[in-house]
Amino acid sequence: MPKLVTTLDHYEVWFLTGSQNLYGEETLRQVAEQSGEIARALDAAGDIPVRIVWKPVLKDSESIRRAALDANSDDNVIGLIAWMHTFSPAKMWIAGLDALRKPLLHLHTQANVELPWSEIDFDFMNLNQAAHGDREFGYIQSRLGVARKTVVGHVSDERVTSQIGTWSRAAAGWAATHELKLARFGDNMRYVAVTEGDKTEAELRFGVQVNTWGVNELVAAVDAASDAEVGALVEEYEELYDVVPELRRGAERHQSLRDGAAIEVGLRSFLEAGGFGAFTTSFEDLGGLRQLPGLAVQRLMAEGYGFGAEGDWKTAVLVRAAKVMGAGLPGGASLMEDYTYDLAPGNEVILGAHMLEVCPTLTSTKPTLEIHPLGIGGKDDPVRLVFTADAGPGVVVALSDMRERFRLIANVVDVVPPTEPLPRLPVGRAVWKPRPDFPTSAAAWLTAGGAHHTVMSTALGVEAFEDFAEIARTELLVIDESTTLREFTKEVRWNQAYHRLAQGF
Ligand code: MN
Repeated sequence: MPKLVTTLDHYEVWFLTGSQNLYGEETLRQVAEQSGEIARALDAAGDIPVRIVWKPVLKDSESIRRAALDANSDDNVIGLIAWMHTFSPAKMWIAGLDALRKPLLHLHTQANVELPWSEIDFDFMNLNQAAHGDREFGYIQSRLGVARKTVVGHVSDERVTSQIGTWSRAAAGWAATHELKLARFGDNMRYVAVTEGDKTEAELRFGVQVNTWGVNELVAAVDAASDAEVGALVEEYEELYDVVPELRRGAERHQSLRDGAAIEVGLRSFLEAGGFGAFTTSFEDLGGLRQLPGLAVQRLMAEGYGFGAEGDWKTAVLVRAAKVMGAGLPGGASLMEDYTYDLAPGNEVILGAHMLEVCPTLTSTKPTLEIHPLGIGGKDDPVRLVFTADAGPGVVVALSDMRERFRLIANVVDVVPPTEPLPRLPVGRAVWKPRPDFPTSAAAWLTAGGAHHTVMSTALGVEAFEDFAEIARTELLVIDESTTLREFTKEVRWNQAYHRLAQGF
């Protein structure tokens, strides 16, 4: 059974250099040599997590088209970086850019940092003319409407490698949603609007396959869990977490821990057998499950699975994308829900949590494994990991279906320690301050129609989601330190017109 892969090691980005045959052999040799050095510098950069692979210099229309087709057909290639070291007449790029189905980054750079002023002759000018060649390339991309990220500067500048690294993470997220199969156990929570959405459009837009199974197929997998598998997991729990005494082996409530472990065994076997990378559950549709899946969901999210509660497959897609985009970075990603506020003026905070299903990658401390009653769901008391998210920068992102298209909404936040201890709230939880301030953030979020479910990432900044949205050609409304409600409200209105026009008929 295939294990879920949540690393970036197998992904590569191709480095393409444009030129033409006009320059003669000696210049083209230098173009090849210098572009190779730039590609190697990017490949060696610590903040670029994927392999950067140099490709021979492109000098005509057919080789450019072929490079695009080859990139399209190779699943490990998640995107292309293009640079026009010399002048590459851009009509040569029309067929290739038109055929390209992978994310594109336009790197506007030079081989040299400083100009050798006293030595410059026209050979130097002809070799080092990205200032002019990249403008020709920018024109044809704009004329063709090519989605791309443009990065400007020398590769020795950390800002440049950081931007390329972030884009490559977004491109990996894009690749991951195209590999993604999502299993829903039951439908959305009854009568809820915002968790609904067009699954057919989502498969076209993000590549994800979203399908539903009756929960009793999951129950069968849980019932098939062996005593040995359950016992091994219980041992793992005792190593990794502070298990409360009543759940330990020999204690009065140990069977509940074993029931929770059986749910994990069953869920994992179902997901691995089907090649799924994300899933949803519904507390209204638990069939023969003894508990609402809490601990199992938390641990599968920590392994990299996307998850949405109450049938919320859109948030599950975002959680999976954030897991891949943030792979290897400190911090984590989780389903999150805006729950309740502390409205102390000037120091307002949002307390976020869920019934159970918050991912422990948000904490660097050892969670406790506890059991408590849960009024919702009408089942046995569920086991769950209890912790508080680490303080630090983060972002929350939601995905709404706006009838004819999707809208992403992101808020840059600062996770903070709880104002006081929370001794009677035994769940995974996070407390944060939204930027630019609570009233502006909340009003903007409500104006945008953002959901109560989000993915919270403390590994990624908002730039990764901006790059993802550009690649996906999907609207993204950002609420951050520069947001004013007046401008945001206008942006929402303008975007409605733009995005309807941009997608054609
Ligand atoms: Mn919820």
